[in-house]
Amino acid sequence: MISIAISKGRIMDETAPLLARVAVRPDEDPEDSRKLIIGTEKRGVRLIVVRASDVPTYVGQGAAELGIAGGDVLAEHGGAGLYQPVDLGIARCRMMVATRRGFDYAAAVRQGARLRIATKYVQLTREHFEAKGVHVDLIKLYGSMELAPLTGLADAIVDLVSSGKTLRANDLVAVEELMPVSARLIVNQAALKTRRAELQPLIDAFASAAQVRAPARAARK
Ligand code: ADP
Ligand code: MG
Repeated sequence: MISIAISKGRIMDETAPLLARVAVRPDEDPEDSRKLIIGTEKRGVRLIVVRASDVPTYVGQGAAELGIAGGDVLAEHGGAGLYQPVDLGIARCRMMVATRRGFDYAAAVRQGARLRIATKYVQLTREHFEAKGVHVDLIKLYGSMELAPLTGLADAIVDLVSSGKTLRANDLVAVEELMPVSARLIVNQAALKTRRAELQPLIDAFASAAQVRAPARAARK
């Protein structure tokens, strides 16, 4: 059996067409089903439905052989026990620092002020600011990051931004990019060594399915 760890929510919309293209359409729609283990049209391949931030844990520990995880979650997890062979080019967004409009971020950084930063991504935020030599106090949040600068909990947030609508609606502005983010196919390292004959064709299928998207996207611009 091959298990592919996937998550509902934002990544799922764009994952579904990919699964169809690699011929592992789920027997039930993961978005509607309450089942957490869902069979697929391909014998011996099933989906396991986990929280987005748990995908690297399931695959890293070998509870699933493959998974689809956001680059944000992978950077925060650290990637132990994982290969990341295919950038699927889906769920694209950017990891950004944002502040209230009017907050002088450049000056605060220049003056070596101790910034209070609220984020779900404490690990990668710490690394980013350490590399710049900026002192930060990190405040771990689990959601609604935008509230933190508005209520005085923090000076800035580190969060994902795609259209920028949520920032604008809350009078925040993006002031620095940490990294571009997209979802990737991940593979358990040990499983790839011992079961390459089974796994490699599926990895190759995902790689070609991801390729199909690139020209389509370029053509729309
Ligand atoms: P959760 O709330 O459980 O973290 P989400 O559905 O909000 O789940 O996000 C899951 C993943 O979708 C993120 O880890 C990221 O890779 C991607 N994602 C989140 N926000 C955005 C966004 N604004 N644009 C594109 N992709 C996003
Ligand atoms: Mg979310």
